[in-house]
Amino acid sequence: MKRILVTGGAGFLGSHLCDRLLKDGHEVLCVDNFFTGRRDNVKHLLDNKNFELLRHDITFPLYVEVDEVYNLACPASPVHYQFDPVQTTKTSVMGAINVLGLAKRLKIKVLQASTSEVYGDPEVHPQPETYRGAVNPIGIRACYDEGKRCAETLFFDYHRQHGVNIKVVRIFNTYGPRMHPNDGRVVSNFIVQALKNEDISIYGQGNQTRSFCFCSDLIEGFVRMMASRDGFTGPVNLGNPGEFTILQLAEKVIDMIGSRSKLIFKPLPQDDPMQRKPDIALAKKELDWEPSIQLEEGLKHTIDYFENLLRNEGA
Ligand code: NAD
Ligand code: UDP
Ligand code: UDP
Repeated sequence: MKRILVTGGAGFLGSHLCDRLLKDGHEVLCVDNFFTGRRDNVKHLLDNKNFELLRHDITFPLYVEVDEVYNLACPASPVHYQFDPVQTTKTSVMGAINVLGLAKRLKIKVLQASTSEVYGDPEVHPQPETYRGAVNPIGIRACYDEGKRCAETLFFDYHRQHGVNIKVVRIFNTYGPRMHPNDGRVVSNFIVQALKNEDISIYGQGNQTRSFCFCSDLIEGFVRMMASRDGFTGPVNLGNPGEFTILQLAEKVIDMIGSRSKLIFKPLPQDDPMQRKPDIALAKKELDWEPSIQLEEGLKHTIDYFENLLRNEGA
């Protein structure tokens, strides 16, 4: 049994990771400032004697005694990370410095939740880990993209300079239950709009693509990466290679819900990547990992979750 720190543990992915680590018999220290995370996401864990919840902003030092760290603290939806862009960069960069300082002091493994956004608006398709990306350093997405790129730099420098045992995963669009209903990301937006029979907001023409991974598959990838062979640092892509246009996603969601929603077209946000699909050959080779839940099945679980949530909110 290990004592494991999960930063951002009250968020969408963090809360699923806490569930998984507790189920595997570990103790979990969940640290979150509740910027986008919610107590509700971990409410069911509060009575568990192996679970501890600490309200703390990861841009400030954190002195705790743990055996492993998963660093997930950072808003992930463009709406949220652009709300206070300076704080977003600080969270990625200073958060990385603090968890790396902690890992260095304790001589423990630390996993960084990086992102496919390090590839920016990619000219190479699908994206392998060797692709260096096309990020606009002064655009409105840069606070997130460059923050995450700098965090990767810090991880690799702490590794080379101080011998810190690092594990870096680059996550591609992941969805599922416990996404915030006002999260702003495409899957939650479309499902909530369709359930309410409201207009479905397509940004641009809807011909841009994304590849959507269900959360349980991703968490399995996290755990395998943490357990991977000594010396394997990544970065490794984690995502589902199934690629869909945003229009296809909208049509699928409307169809599955049987919604009366109509499509409306809104301006495409600045620097919105046109295409995205992970090359997961490295994850297959090193982690023996690939996603098992395809879009329709994952959407069904997610629709069920939002249906319940809206019903309870209405009650
Ligand atoms: P989320 O917004 O639900 O979770 C982020 C969590 O971090 C929230 O609980 C938030 O309150 C917390 N947080 C933010 N700033 C903090 C700070 N300064 N101190 C402490 N806690 C802070 O988003 P998510 O989808 O669960 O993303 C989790 C991680 O995975 C993020 O690092 C994100 O960048 C990364 N990621 C997610 C995706 C995805 O598609 N879901 C894709 C790429 C990368
Ligand atoms: N740090 C932390 N928890 C720890 C150890 C370090 O939050 O358990 C912080 C520390 O406050 C510092 C940062 O991590 O700001 C980087 O630590 P490092 O030892 O690399 O740097 P230094 O303290 O030498 O500046
Ligand atoms: N998008 C959309 N309507 C929405 C929300 C998002 O058309 O209500 C588009 C967005 O422009 C982008 C894609 O869906 O092209 C994925 O957006 P999201 O914010 O989920 O993730 P990211 O852009 O970070 O991949």
